[in-house]
Amino acid sequence: DKSLVWFRRDLRNFDHAALHQALAQSRAVYCAFVFDKEILDSLPRQDRRVSFIHACVAELDAALRAAGGGLIVLHAHAAEAIPRLAAELGVDAVFANHDYEPAAASRDAEVATRLLAENREWLSFKDQVIFERDEVLSLSGKPFSVFTPYKNAWLKMLHATESVSLAPHSVEPAPEQLAVPPQCHALPSLADLGFEETPPPVPAGMSGGQALFDDFMPRMASYDRTRDFPAIKGPSYLSVHLRFGTVSIRGLVRQALAGVRMSASGAATWLSELVWRDFYFMILHHHPRVVERAFRPEYDAIEWESGPHADEMFQAWCEGRTGYPLVDAAMLQLNQTGYMHNRLRMVTASFLVKDLGIDWRRGERYFAQQLNDYDLAANNGGWQWAASTGCDAQPYFRIFNPVTQSEKFDPEGKFIKRYLPALAPLSAKAVHAPWLSGMQVKDYPPPIVQHDVARKRTLERFAVVKKSS
Ligand code: FAD
Repeated sequence: DKSLVWFRRDLRNFDHAALHQALAQSRAVYCAFVFDKEILDSLPRQDRRVSFIHACVAELDAALRAAGGGLIVLHAHAAEAIPRLAAELGVDAVFANHDYEPAAASRDAEVATRLLAENREWLSFKDQVIFERDEVLSLSGKPFSVFTPYKNAWLKMLHATESVSLAPHSVEPAPEQLAVPPQCHALPSLADLGFEETPPPVPAGMSGGQALFDDFMPRMASYDRTRDFPAIKGPSYLSVHLRFGTVSIRGLVRQALAGVRMSASGAATWLSELVWRDFYFMILHHHPRVVERAFRPEYDAIEWESGPHADEMFQAWCEGRTGYPLVDAAMLQLNQTGYMHNRLRMVTASFLVKDLGIDWRRGERYFAQQLNDYDLAANNGGWQWAASTGCDAQPYFRIFNPVTQSEKFDPEGKFIKRYLPALAPLSAKAVHAPWLSGMQVKDYPPPIVQHDVARKRTLERFAVVKKSS
């Protein structure tokens, strides 16, 4: 009869599984969002993501109001607040979309138990991925742990089920079906939440997601040729929108498929990235232990550098002071904007683990604090890939050379110079490794490790894995 839709990482009012289902099954539908103290309390008071979410929530509230309803916004511990709100409103059921992170899954289980104790239902739906959990399995019925066969099976499944898998979950409330929120639950300001205003990193909300997609659309066909060069506008920059669900994954896959059908090679490559996204959610669902440990247990035997020297190295990496220009420029991009180009995420992660010998989990945590698009599944997957500890990771003896990567992917040093103006006078040849040309650059440090030496040490460090397997 009456229901409540709890919005989390799905901040839109179109193509929304839970909202669609609630509207189909109930006479009156309330909508709510919780600024969860459980999460917010641990964040610094200036956090780009909180500003971004706040702007998204404001836009969602306005859109729901325009349709006759509005958003109930709470600042509380969600696991208690949602059942309490459900009781206050007298709803029969709470609708939400699946979340695959272990902490979120146990929070949802707690909410479901509390609701059940009061005879209310908890109903949740697949929304943020195309295929989840056990939907794509190997021929022997097991979850995949290698990407390429997973992707092939994923594509096969998509082609077989496209009309269902990609169908939008329409949101068309009848007049007065969306319930008006009680006045006491209006949207608090950022200051009310205890945060300072920081300009959102990219245009926020559904409108921001749409604007970024419109900008990317004409570039999609050439994505395969441009995606690896951080100095040019190659990728979509949609990750933060995918993270908070201001865009619909079904909508994006439909557009990518349309591109594939017009034989745009870039579209196929971009679609593949969206499959990686599903892949890592699936891995996290089946192997929640990866949050703490290596996907491949034998890699937990590796001894990482520790102590004051390692701490200093780690700090230099965080602050972009390693003396390797591409690594440093990338870290500055992260620190200044909250975004880092995918090629550079691979290069900086590899540098931390295989040049500095530092535990991948420290880098993973740093990225988690800084990235606007921080997503446990993709971040953990990316780090374990770079550290060679993950499923389908790069082999441990493949070690990126930070100078060669720089020459290849930022050949003129344009990206480097954007973030490191001290290197502006250097030639395109010298900028990748200033020390090689015997140059002492003012305001730029010499390299903190020698790559060749570090490489050898890494091969020794990882040798325990070979012995144990
Ligand atoms: P595009 O190139 O336009 O790709 C489109 C979308 O595909 C992305 O928005 C993203 O949702 C998805 N995608 C692309 N590559 C991957 C990938 N390798 N794994 C999973 N999904 C992918 N991505 C995050 O969303 N959050 C993270 O916290 C994150 N941490 C990472 C850490 C490391 C060490 C590495 C190597 C990669 C990480 N990635 C992460 C994946 C990737 O770097 C980003 O998704 C991408 O750079 C975002 O930019 P974009 O939206 O312009 O991507």
